[in-house]
Amino acid sequence: MPRKSQREEDATLTEDYKSSQKKKYMTPSNMRLASHNKTRVAYFHDEGVGNYHYGERHPMKPHRLTLTNHLVLNYGLHKKMEIFQPRRATDNEILEFHAPDYVDFLKRVTPDNAEEFEQVFQRFNVGDDCPIFDGIYDFCQRYAGASIEASRKLIAGGADICINWSGGLHHAKKSEASGFCFVNDIVLGTLELLRYFPRVLYVDIDIHHGDGVQEAFYSTDRVMTVSFHKYNGDFFPGTGHLDEIGTSLGKYYSLNVPLRDGIDDDAYIWLFKEVMDGVMATYQPSAIVLQCGADSLGCDRLGCFNLSIEAHGRCVQIMKDYKIPMMVVGGGGYTVRNVARCWTYETSILVDQELSNDLPPNEYIDFFKPDYQLHPHLSGRVENQNDRQYLLKVRERAMEQLRYLDAAPSIQMQEIPPDIQGFLDGEDELQDDEDDSNFGMDRRPPAYTKNRLVPEAEWYEDDDDNDGETGASDMEL
Ligand SMILES: [Zn+2]
Repeated sequence: MPRKSQREEDATLTEDYKSSQKKKYMTPSNMRLASHNKTRVAYFHDEGVGNYHYGERHPMKPHRLTLTNHLVLNYGLHKKMEIFQPRRATDNEILEFHAPDYVDFLKRVTPDNAEEFEQVFQRFNVGDDCPIFDGIYDFCQRYAGASIEASRKLIAGGADICINWSGGLHHAKKSEASGFCFVNDIVLGTLELLRYFPRVLYVDIDIHHGDGVQEAFYSTDRVMTVSFHKYNGDFFPGTGHLDEIGTSLGKYYSLNVPLRDGIDDDAYIWLFKEVMDGVMATYQPSAIVLQCGADSLGCDRLGCFNLSIEAHGRCVQIMKDYKIPMMVVGGGGYTVRNVARCWTYETSILVDQELSNDLPPNEYIDFFKPDYQLHPHLSGRVENQNDRQYLLKVRERAMEQLRYLDAAPSIQMQEIPPDIQGFLDGEDELQDDEDDSNFGMDRRPPAYTKNRLVPEAEWYEDDDDNDGETGASDMEL
């Protein structure tokens, strides 16, 4: 077949753009969920998590979490979800991923005794980007605890969607801080999900590559990571090339969508939908973790894309529409007022509540000067370097990888999860009655009780997935 001419390719892309624009935008009435199968949303917010300070000039401001929560409450969104004050992650929970010497360091170091630890600063990569501040480990325990609790809520079937805007710290490594992240709550939450869900899909729309999560699951097929990010080899963290596809059993299960400066709403949404439709059809995850880093918005202090809050939220809507149990976490985002706007808007999408563009009165309203709107104009500051040819190439490469993935052997269980009794004891949400949501397809099979996790053979849908193996090897991290 002759190759399409440039004009034909342009026409195709233009049509795709148009149809993506026609699709529902900020119109909850268009959403596919009918009223009788209402989505159950759980919201995890730690009152203290916004009170930590990385330092006066540091761009990461935990206060954005307080601002977000104020907007969420003042818009009345709490009435549409269950609100939880999460408990802190324990040392043992954090050690599920992180190395003991690194965790010990985080627990002991303070600004006052930092000098004693200087010889390990380089090893653990702390310093300017990842400074030692008061309560650093406590902060980690709070945001990580919320992601772990959110995972357990999904496992127990207590919610269809769990939100933790304090989570999403996707750069942290096993033994190393990175990119303002110390403990990787996404990896910890995903490990928890893997105790129950056979396949977890991780999706990352932060402007930075989700390197810590990709690295943790690079050699397993039980987690597929998909990251949309700026890439030029130089931009932090320097990874996220198309050729990073995973290794060993995880080959083809890491998908990277590298973008250039200034990508706009239409292009981003088009590419996101194309790629995610392909991923969902091919991988068929049983749970999703969505990282909503807000530094991909236009006018971000560190970012260089042109996305509006609507477009960012459109990605959340697209993921919600797949109707798979989902944990939604925050991430980057350095123009604080827009982070709060974005995550509030995305909360409204998840609970299916239309919001006025006029922000409600609240004690932090001055942050939103001069317009006091939910959707300020954020685009057009950076020239769009993503031409159509480039976008088509990236889409084609992603589709090509999905074709390989489709041909790969079916996903098998590599590890029987450790005993889950500990968290089941604290979980009061196990309900026998089936709720009326159509989310929890794979969850809570009949044999799932407080005392016993059923062998994996009982909860795979596909006979081909059952090879009778139990606990063959540890999952490679
Ligand atoms: Zn980021």
